[in-house]
Amino acid sequence: MIEDKVDILRSEFPIFSSNPKLIYMDSAATSQRPKSVIDKVVEVYNNYNSNVHRGIYAMAEKATQEYEDSRKEIASFLGADSDEIIFTKNTTESINLIAYALLPRLKRGTITITELEHHSNILPWRKIASLAEAEIRTVEVNEDGEISEADFEKKIPGTSLLSFAHVSNVAGTIVNARELVKKAKAQGAMVAVDGAQAAPHMKLNLHDLGADFYALSAHKMLGPTGLGILYGNKKLLDELEPPFSGGEMVKEVHKSGQEWNDVPWKFEPGTPNFVGAIGFGEAIKYLNRIGMDEIEKYEKKLSKILLEELEKISELKYIGPAENRASLLAFELNGYHPHDIAAFLDSRSIAIRSGFHCAQPLHERFGFFDGSARASLYFYNMPNEIEALANALKELVKLQ
Ligand code: PLP
Repeated sequence: MIEDKVDILRSEFPIFSSNPKLIYMDSAATSQRPKSVIDKVVEVYNNYNSNVHRGIYAMAEKATQEYEDSRKEIASFLGADSDEIIFTKNTTESINLIAYALLPRLKRGTITITELEHHSNILPWRKIASLAEAEIRTVEVNEDGEISEADFEKKIPGTSLLSFAHVSNVAGTIVNARELVKKAKAQGAMVAVDGAQAAPHMKLNLHDLGADFYALSAHKMLGPTGLGILYGNKKLLDELEPPFSGGEMVKEVHKSGQEWNDVPWKFEPGTPNFVGAIGFGEAIKYLNRIGMDEIEKYEKKLSKILLEELEKISELKYIGPAENRASLLAFELNGYHPHDIAAFLDSRSIAIRSGFHCAQPLHERFGFFDGSARASLYFYNMPNEIEALANALKELVKLQ
């Protein structure tokens, strides 16, 4: 049980010994990294730094082997095959990559998203919709920040592609992804899932889920920055043209033409972030050692305590459901600007995020026109930190 060993786990994260007072509640923006991941990155640079899939000398072979082993580790963690795992820069780039690759298939089609989306799952589709002369539909959410079933049923017929966030980074809604995928597929739509806030916190099996694409960021789940994953259904990936091209994504280039490389390398033009990918493999090993089921169980408890403690503050108003929510809470407090809340909490060594969290339409949907303050947790947070947050917020209310 994580409760019994959270101190030990925290001791494996150098950030907490460098900042002994820190109460870090901004893991939805980026998580902290354990020493094993930091050491792995240093190990690559110190011992076998060389470009992958190019040199045939021993050191380059070692780097390539580690890079591809990491892909296998990530694939198995996600319940996918390694040739379905494409290394990108982050979730944002993964979604853009799908969007551009699907452009020819979306000509005068319909792209359906939801009101829960992060800008990264709105703007690439707006761009593609304008290039493909496609229509965009947006499925509404109810007052609890949950996808309206009735509106979904209304908007899904005729959809060419459905793209939705598995977990909302603002409302904390955990979307019933399996159900949405099943319904969209039954209507013949392709499905892409933004898993940026789901993959760090729950056990996934992408083959079981059945979506065509799934995007995530390593930096939100203990991995290095600058590394994202795009999972794609192998059959579709084989069929799609790579939207970006250059070195290493091609087998042969002649004066008159070229032959693309096999999947997944066809979608990885140029030198990849191989150090980040190898570091992410180490992060996955760390998550596997703790166990995603354990992480999910512990975070459910944290999430319940977070809501219970903050709900006691009558001046606080939050977005999202009261139950079955992720371990984050976005809120307003008695007319305080979210940046003022964050600055006050910072004076108590509590790090939270304030603003729109790249989800302005969702804030506007709930009348949060200045944005919100958001506390977001991970398995290294503790109940006494939530108590400290609640006490600091009560103190702030009294100052008014
Ligand atoms: N989607 C969601 C739901 C997110 O929360 C985020 C980041 O906060 C992203 C997409 C974008 O992730 P990145 O900035 O790593 O590309």
